Amino acid sequence: MSELTLDDAAVAESDLVVRRGRFRCVAFRDPVDGQEHLALVLGDLGDGEEVLVRVHSECVTGDVFGALRCECGDQLDAALDAVLTEGRGVLVYLRGHEGRGIGLVDKVRTQLLQDEQGLDTVDSATALGLPVDVRDYGPAARVLRYLGTRSVRLLSNNPDKVRALEENGLKVAARIPLLVAAHADNTRYLTAKRDRLGHDLPHLNGAPASRSTHRPQGSPGPVGAPPPGGGSRTTDGSGADGDGDADGGPDPQDVPGPQGVPGPRNHITEPGGPGRTCD
Ligand SMILES: [Zn+2]
Repeated sequence: MSELTLDDAAVAESDLVVRRGRFRCVAFRDPVDGQEHLALVLGDLGDGEEVLVRVHSECVTGDVFGALRCECGDQLDAALDAVLTEGRGVLVYLRGHEGRGIGLVDKVRTQLLQDEQGLDTVDSATALGLPVDVRDYGPAARVLRYLGTRSVRLLSNNPDKVRALEENGLKVAARIPLLVAAHADNTRYLTAKRDRLGHDLPHLNGAPASRSTHRPQGSPGPVGAPPPGGGSRTTDGSGADGDGDADGGPDPQDVPGPQGVPGPRNHITEPGGPGRTCD
């Protein structure tokens, strides 16, 4: 699967000017999942080595409407800013990834459980008999190969994403944290990603451990998660991503103060700070 290549007939390119700058817009229909995805490319990728890349999972509520219960919109903005600052890079936008692959309708069902029953992002999915994460990163690997990318520096806090891309034949030379500010509406979701999904979110240190108010019987523990605060592979010596997104509900008691995140060298924070919506 991973060695499949994109057919030129399934790819279309144009310039695309967005609020933040001018990109090359590469739309493609993936031969495996049949979805139409998008890559925004900036600059000449040259030899294709160590290209700064964000592989972003679609989240219409966060990306389009600036929902605050997850950090997707802020991460999308921060990733585009990082690529623009670097002057070279790619943002791959993967559709069909809503709610870590369960789809929009089921994602909203999990949000209802989070709000009404206090379940976290993991338990609200399993309570509905849904998988916790079924995202396929094959399309990202295929489009990056099509674009001539040989190795990437991946903007992500999610060690599982690094592994998944490598399993699809992509060389990840480094993982670069993509941290966004915690605030009243997203802290519970972020701590669940840290504690139950193994995301590397050092800026949440001090935030209380995530917990479902009522964990359903038979609910699994961490999914492939290392212990909080450690264990993830970060090739640039730091760590972090918040991705994907069956969103978590607000829990103001858990909210740490504004984060002045002590920073890894390549650390990226969202300058807009708490309450900023996706623009
Ligand atoms: Zn989201």
